[in-house]
Amino acid sequence: MRIVLLGPPGAGKGTQAESIVKKYGVLHLSTGDMLRAAAQADTEIGRKIKQTMASGALVSDRLVIAAVVERISQDDARKGFILDGFPRTVSQAVTFDDVLHTEHLELDHVVELQVDEKVLLGRILIRVNEAKERGIAQRADDNQDSLKVRLDAYRAQTAPVIDYYRARGVLKSVDGLQQIERVTADIFRAIDTAASPKVAMRR
Ligand code: AMP
Repeated sequence: MRIVLLGPPGAGKGTQAESIVKKYGVLHLSTGDMLRAAAQADTEIGRKIKQTMASGALVSDRLVIAAVVERISQDDARKGFILDGFPRTVSQAVTFDDVLHTEHLELDHVVELQVDEKVLLGRILIRVNEAKERGIAQRADDNQDSLKVRLDAYRAQTAPVIDYYRARGVLKSVDGLQQIERVTADIFRAIDTAASPKVAMRR
């Protein structure tokens, strides 16, 4: 099963992706996590990624697509995956479709977590406090300035991805403002009841 999970920063994609992994036994592929790992490298490209991420802006399509293509070609991705945080631009979505088509693979589900923007800042601040309490390093982009850039990027670059999948009739929207367990239940229902509306890869 191949799933794409979309939603603004702070919508709970990571938390929900973990539940999906447990239930369906797929691999969790978070482009944010992949890029945070790449940003550790003390190289020009590593430093550039780190700087871009800290600002809240999107990393270049070319880099992200290369990372995803490389990752999904590995053996453990054969059992299926959930993409969390990708595609984030229409260009990424279109290229991803082409890649899947070339590999004779299909997307099974695209799920959008709908969350009112006004609650996102509060959610991110909770995440910051939790990280502090648990002694976990704080994300460099979990602050008010970067969050504004992240939300602007979401509105301008990622919201059109939702329209892209909606136009294909494959988008399932779930109310992400409910309690975590209810959001999870709605996602499971969306996945289980969808008559596997494979995304047509030929355009
Ligand atoms: P996330 O952990 O999904 O909130 O992503 C954290 C940051 O990683 C984003 O603000 C971007 O800078 C970068 N990033 C993650 N996924 C992508 C993507 N698909 N395209 C471009 N940048 C991304």
